[in-house]
Amino acid sequence: MRYPSLVINRKKLTENTKIFYDNCKEHGINMAAVTKCYNAIPEVAQAQIDAGVTMLADSRVENLKKMAHLDAEKFLIRIPMISQADEVVQYADISVNSEIEVIKALSQAALKVGKVHKILMMIDIGDLREGVWKDDAMDLADQIMELKGVQLVGVGANFSCFGGVIPDRENLGIIVKTAEAIEAKYGIKIEYRSGGNSVTYDPMMQGIVPEGINHMRFGELSLVGYDGFAGKEVPGGHRDAFILKAEIVELKEKPSLPIGQIGRDAFGDIPVFEDKGIMRRAICAVGRQDVKVEDLKPVSDKIEVLGASSDHLLLNVTACPDLKVGQIVEFTLEYGGLLAASTSNYVTKYVI
Ligand SMILES: *Cc1c(COP(=O)(O)O)cnc(C)c1O
Repeated sequence: MRYPSLVINRKKLTENTKIFYDNCKEHGINMAAVTKCYNAIPEVAQAQIDAGVTMLADSRVENLKKMAHLDAEKFLIRIPMISQADEVVQYADISVNSEIEVIKALSQAALKVGKVHKILMMIDIGDLREGVWKDDAMDLADQIMELKGVQLVGVGANFSCFGGVIPDRENLGIIVKTAEAIEAKYGIKIEYRSGGNSVTYDPMMQGIVPEGINHMRFGELSLVGYDGFAGKEVPGGHRDAFILKAEIVELKEKPSLPIGQIGRDAFGDIPVFEDKGIMRRAICAVGRQDVKVEDLKPVSDKIEVLGASSDHLLLNVTACPDLKVGQIVEFTLEYGGLLAASTSNYVTKYVI
C-alpha cells in the first residue's frame, strides 16, 4: 500500500447513504447524492446508487463525465461556464442556473445535438452565493420559458455556503412559493423543489422543512455518517467509511514549546503554544497540500493533532509508547479534509 492513502469502504458508504436516502424518502424528499467530496470516483458513486440513489450531483462537468456510464441522472450543481456549454449538455441531464446568457448558450448547445437540457433555477434566499434575487425570479423564468433547447424543471436554493444562512420555514418557503407561481403562470410542473445541502438535514428531521420541498442535495453527511452542522451523531452512521492513512517518518521526544524567537509560520500566522512539558512527537508524511488538518480526527483517542505545514503533520503521541517510525496512523475526515484528500494527487485512493 502507498501512503498517504484514502481508504474508501463501499459497504459502509452504502449503509451511510441509505440512512439519509431513506429518511429523506420518509419526508417525501428525493435525495441527490453529491459526489464532489470524493472526486466522483465511479465505484464509490455506484455504492451510493446501491443505496437507492437515482441522481448524482457534482459541481464539475469533468466529474460527471467520469460517471457517464452509471445508471443515474446527472446533475451539475455549479452554474455552467458558457465555454463548457457543449460538454454540459452532453454529460449533465440537468444543471443549476441563474444567468440568462448561460441558459441561452445551453439552449443553443442542446438544439445543436437534438436534446433538451433541464434547468433548475437557483434563487438567492440571502446566503449571497449563487442565485437570482427572489424578486427577479419570475422575470428570469419568463425568459427561460422562451428558449426551445431548455426546460425549466426545478427551483432551488443553497444555504450555509457563503453567508452561513440557516434554512428555516420562511426561506425554504420562498422556493415553494416561486415554484407554485411558475406552475400557475405557465401550467407546467416544477418537478424539483430543491431544498439545499447537508445543513438542511437536521431541519428536515425536526419537521421544519415546509411541505412542497421534495428534493435535497446531500454530500458531506451521507458520506461521513455524522451531522457536523448540527453536531449530532447519526444513529447507525459509520464515521469511518473514508479513512486517511499516513506513515510516521520521525518520532522523537521534544519540548512542547518552540525554542527561540517566534515569528510567523509558513502560512503567515503567528503560532501560539501551550507548555505541556516534554512530548513524544510524531511526524507523518502528509500535509496541508493533501488535507485540511482541522478536519482530521485520529481514530485512536490517544493521539492528538498538533498542526501541520505543507508536507508534515505533527502529532502528540505521548500516550502511545509502542508507536514506531514506519507505522501507520489512521484518521477519519470531515468535509474539508475529505474534499482535499480526494483531490490531492499525492493521496492514493483504495476502494474496498
Ligand atoms: C456542494 C454542494 C452541495 C452539497 O453540500 P454538502 O454540504 O456536502 O451536502 C449541495 N448543493 C450545492 C449547490 C453544492 O455546491
